[in-house]
Parts: sequence; structure tokens; C-alpha cells
Amino acid sequence: MNNAKKIWNYFGPVFKKYSLYGVLSIMFFTAWVLLSNIVKPIIYKQMIDQASNQVSLSFFSIDVFIPLMTGLIIILLFNHLVARLGSHFLVLFNGKSSLEIDRRGFEHITRHSYNFYANNFVGTLTNKVARLTAKYRNLFETIGFGFWLLVVNIVASVVVLSYQNISIGILFAIAMSIFIIFSISFTKKQANFDKTRAKKGSITKGVLSDSITNILNIKIFSAMNYEYDYFDVFLRGYNIASFKSWFYQNRVRIYKSIFFFFFESLVIGLSLYLFINQQISIGTLVLVQAYVLSIGANAWNLDKALTGFIEVYSDTVDAIDVVTTDISVVDNHTPENINMNIGRVDFHSVSFTYPEGDHVFKKFNLDIPAGQSIGVVGKSGSGKTTLTKLLLRFYDIDSGELTIDSQNITMVRQDDLRSKIAYIPQETILFHRTIYENIAYGNPDASRDEVMQAARSAHVDEFVQNLEQGYETKVGERGIKLSGGQRQRIGIARAMLKKDAPILVLDEATSSLDSMSEQYIQDSFEKLSENRTTIVIAHRLSTIQKMDRIIVMDNGEIIEDGSHKKLLAKGGYYAGLWNSQVNGFIQE
Ligand code: ADP
Repeated sequence: MNNAKKIWNYFGPVFKKYSLYGVLSIMFFTAWVLLSNIVKPIIYKQMIDQASNQVSLSFFSIDVFIPLMTGLIIILLFNHLVARLGSHFLVLFNGKSSLEIDRRGFEHITRHSYNFYANNFVGTLTNKVARLTAKYRNLFETIGFGFWLLVVNIVASVVVLSYQNISIGILFAIAMSIFIIFSISFTKKQANFDKTRAKKGSITKGVLSDSITNILNIKIFSAMNYEYDYFDVFLRGYNIASFKSWFYQNRVRIYKSIFFFFFESLVIGLSLYLFINQQISIGTLVLVQAYVLSIGANAWNLDKALTGFIEVYSDTVDAIDVVTTDISVVDNHTPENINMNIGRVDFHSVSFTYPEGDHVFKKFNLDIPAGQSIGVVGKSGSGKTTLTKLLLRFYDIDSGELTIDSQNITMVRQDDLRSKIAYIPQETILFHRTIYENIAYGNPDASRDEVMQAARSAHVDEFVQNLEQGYETKVGERGIKLSGGQRQRIGIARAMLKKDAPILVLDEATSSLDSMSEQYIQDSFEKLSENRTTIVIAHRLSTIQKMDRIIVMDNGEIIEDGSHKKLLAKGGYYAGLWNSQVNGFIQE
């Protein structure tokens, strides 16, 4: 799809919805341009002509000025009135459209598949989405006002001047045509400069945001200078791109200055010549000058409008990608009703490769009977986390079949599928909202009692009681104000609220939690896993021992499968891991 079409597809529906306000606003501003730039000078012209007539006849009378004065006052009044009405409708248009563009942006950005976020800077994404509204308004204003009002001004001036004297009209028409062609011919190159500039600007903001997200790393590794140098490379790239763009703009301005110098000299020369030869009146001489001034100011802005338009357009193209990029994991067009109630999980001959990555699974098989608890062990990079991501359908598999209770997971809506899986990631990340809100997130329909019950079961209550604002405490960005163990307990409480989920997936935290936290987590986890199929990516021996079954993974394959006892007796990889335990942890 070409870029203009992408932009129209995205902005079009909102524009159509509020086009009445937009059109009214443009109409009133058009009236304003006509009154102030075209009609007002005509009245002045007539006043001057009348005055000069009276001087030459030595006859002075106020009568002839009265209708002109009255007309002028009415025009001045209307001039203000239409301008204010124009702004009023513009505010309505912008305000109402902005709300919808922002909503659409948010909706789209959160609907992307997991892979999209893995490949994009958070900062770049937020920046792009936030920019879209401004771009929408800019595009409308550049086209609606920048171009349209100039065209109206030029055409009306040419018509009025031709009526006064055809040669002046022709001079204006030819000069303006040359100027417009000249402006357009420079804009393509300017567009390329602006596009590069917008791209580099976006990346630079992304790098900045990534550094801020990693501020702890920067402090721990005293890497301020390194980060500074790292950021500086991007900043310089952006700066050079900006300079190129601005220098080119300045070069075009020099050409424009030369053009206007000749244009104004020619117009003055021609009108003086016509005046001396009594082909135009003194009033027309003044009128021509008034038009030269207003067109001059506006036409100078044509270049600005064109380059501004291109800048806005390139910026929009850069930003629109985030909301028009296809979503890679999509729901089936005719989704089946979900029928996953007992939680039998079956990976049947599953092959999977990460986009732009190596293959992780080749014809992988794993059948987990309903209600079984299974520990997944293996070296780092062996595919344990990927297994859970596929089950949650963060990615689609390349071939094979992944079913829950014999229902293919691609046949049901993703939201329905995920409602059947309580998932606790390795590191629970929290919203910068209250503890209560973070727990209740597990089920928006849960009553306060249910939320509190979950909080008690997951041992969240113990530490919340010591907080001054209790459950109303805000947890900081990503939950930074809480310890890893506390966040994990909130994660468990949240999962407990997913009462209808027959499957529980836990990517166990590797961070060394204190033994108290570990006990709490173990205890609450056991409650949580009752009557559910449980998959635990295990790093802790204490967790693994109690599992019905343990699988050991290596390089995307299951190399051992059995109970703790059986695998120990086998004396293979698992037994080796077991023996290498230190302080209750498995060394990956
Ligand atoms: P484990 O959980 O066992 O440590 P993972 O399932 O995270 O292993 O990773 C399995 C393999 O897939 C690794 O080689 C890893 O580098 C690769 N991988 C993980 N995530 C991605 C991704 N988003 N894009 C490309 N490759 C990935």
C-alpha cells in the first residue's frame, strides 16, 4: 500500500466524521482572506480615487465617502466575525478528531503481536503514537489553510487586477505560475532531506528512552560516559540530517528572494508606467501594491507550506507505520467457541522458528494430561520460555498442531485462549497503579472480597500491612518500589483471580529471593496449582521435586522425561543438574 493511501485509510474515517466542522472552518477563513486581502484594498482604492478626483476638481464633499466608509466598517466587522467563527469550528474539528485519533492509536498499538514489541523501542512507539494527532492537525491545516487560502488569494487578486488592467493581471498570473512551478520543483529534494531527518529523530528518541529505562544499569556500571558517547552518535546523525535539511531550505529561500526582487520591481515599473500613461488611476496603483504585499507574504509561505507539508507528511509516514503495520498473530475469521475446560495440552509435531531467528523446535511433541504438573528444566536457550509463548499464542507455529482439550489454539479468539491460562512470568511487571488495582487486573469482575482473598492467599497481605497507604500504595513504574519477591507474590495473587483457567504456567524467578519470600511463594503457588494443569519452568529444586513429571530440554528437544525419582535413578542430564545444585538452585 502506498503511503498516501495508508495515511488516508487511517485518518480518513475520523476526517469524514468531523468534516463538517473542518469545511465550515475553511469556508469562514476563506471569507476572511477575501474580505481582508481582496475587498478591503478595493474600498481603499476607491477612497483614494475619489479623494484624488476631488483634489483635481478642487471640489470637496463628504457625501461620496459615506457609503464607502459604511462599507469599510461593515467589512471590518465581518472580517473579525468570520475569523472568530473559523477558529471556533477549527477548535471543534481538532478537539473532536484528536480524541479519536488518540483512541485509535492506543487501541492499535496495544493489539500488536508480541514480536512487534520485541523489535521496537518502547520510546519510539509511544513517541510515534503521541505524534499522530499533531500530524493529523498539521496535515489538515497545511492543506486547508496553507495551500487553499493562498490559491484563493492569488486567483482573486489576478481576477480583480485583470479587471483593472489586463497587462498587470497577466504579469501577476505568469509570475505566480512560475513561482508555483519553481516551489514544487524544489520540494522533492527537500522531502528526502526531511524524511531522513524524521527517521533519525525517531531513532534518537528511542535510544534516549532505552537509556532511561536502563538507568539502573547505567548507574551500576558507572556507564554515564559510555552512554553519553553512545547517545552522541545518534544525536550527531540526527543533527547532521537536520542541518542538511535546513541548509537546503535556506538555499531555496535565497532563490525566492531573488525572484521576489525581480517580481516586485517589474510590478512597480509596469504600474508606474501605466499610471503615467493614464491607463490606471492612483487608486489602482495603490491597490496593486496592496496585492503585491499580501500575495508576496502568502506566496513566500507557499514554499513554507509545501516544505511544511512534506515535513509533516514524512513525519506522518514515519509514525503511521506503527498503526498500520499488519498484526502478525490474528484471530480466526470465524472463531470457534472456546471449549478448554480441563486443560490437556498437546504439542503435536510442532515446528517453530522466530521471525528473523534460528529454528527453535522441529517436529516437537509433548502431551500433558489434564491436571498434571510438569517441571521443565534445561540449559538457558533450550526453548523453555518459547514453549510457554507458543502455548499463549504470542507467536504462531510454522507447522504441526497445538491443542488444548483437543481444540486447536488458532481456532479460538486469542483473548479467550489466554483467559484459560494463568501465566506468571519470570519477572512480574506491574503498572504504576495501586497494589489493589494491580491484583484486580487478574479479573476485572472480581469483587473486593475476592481480590483480598487472593491477596491473603498469595501472602501479599503480610507486606502490604506495613505500607502506610496499604493497598492504595502506588508501586512505581514497572513496580520498581517493590522487591522482586513482593512483585512475584502480586503476580501470583493476580493469577489466582483467573478462576476459570484450567492451565497454570509459571516461569519461575531465578533471582535469589530471600528464603521467607521463597516459602511464601511456594505455599501460594501450591494453592494456585490445585486442580490445574501446571507447567513450571523450574530453576528451584524444591519446586521440581514435587512435580508429577519433569522434562529436560536441550536445543528444542526433550532429552529426558519422567518423575524426579526416575530421572535421578537414570543418572543422566537431570541427575547431573541435581548434583550440581548449590544452595537450592540449579545452575543453568
Ligand atoms: P530458555 O527459556 O530455555 O532459556 P528461550 O525459549 O528463551 O530459551 O529461547 C530459545 C531460543 O530462541 C534461544 O536460542 C533464543 O536466543 C531464541 N529466541 C528467544 N526469543 C527470541 C526472539 N524474540 N527472537 C529471536 N530469537 C529468540
